[in-house]
Amino acid sequence: MITTDTIATWLRLFTSDVVANVDELTQLDAAIGDADHGSNMERGMTAVVDGLADGPAQPGPLLKKAGMTLVSKVGGASGPLYGTLMLRMAGTIGDTTEIDAPMLAAALRAGLAGVVERGHAQSGDKTMFDALNPACDALDAALADGADLAKALRAAADAAAAGRDSTVDMVARKGRASYLGERSVGHQDPGATSTAMLIDALARAVNEVQQP
Ligand code: ADP
Ligand code: MG
Repeated sequence: MITTDTIATWLRLFTSDVVANVDELTQLDAAIGDADHGSNMERGMTAVVDGLADGPAQPGPLLKKAGMTLVSKVGGASGPLYGTLMLRMAGTIGDTTEIDAPMLAAALRAGLAGVVERGHAQSGDKTMFDALNPACDALDAALADGADLAKALRAAADAAAAGRDSTVDMVARKGRASYLGERSVGHQDPGATSTAMLIDALARAVNEVQQP
């Protein structure tokens, strides 16, 4: 079962990854955007972690606060997109205190739907969708196969990483990178890169909190 502790650990682990890789995220965005994805995510997630100390005690409201922080602190496209992802997850979780595997999968799927509603990205557009969508599919498939949540999230993280890698060969059709057209080919999408970190952090958080 996933509790507030797991969600807080997830947000902390993701933030550590963003901070440790801020230069990589910036350089990826420098190649096909405006070189601010690293600083956007660092600013937003640092504010999220700062807000954990006096945050709500339940996982849904905690994610809601995190999402609202991202929307308000990050001016770039990624703030509203990541914010919506977390707000939609919070909406699915509601007041539940212990999130089971099907609810987590449904929450992530609702987060993906929120990203699509906001940004209208489809598969192959070279965005964070191309990491998040395969992660949701892999999570559902692994759970349907009878895997436990930790294993299923590991499969989701692997799928997100493969999706991130697949963005290299894509032509960007959404966001700033789309202004480059064919010249965006050969570069990994920054948002797909941070999203692969997000899912990997979730897999690690569940492993960490379940098996201390
Ligand atoms: P900005 O593009 O405003 O500078 P960031 O650099 O922080 O914002 O984020 C860029 C990332 O946001 C892209 O790499 C891409 O993954 C994601 N992104 C941009 N537009 C969209 C969209 N319409 N749908 C989904 N993801 C998008
Ligand atoms: Mg940018």
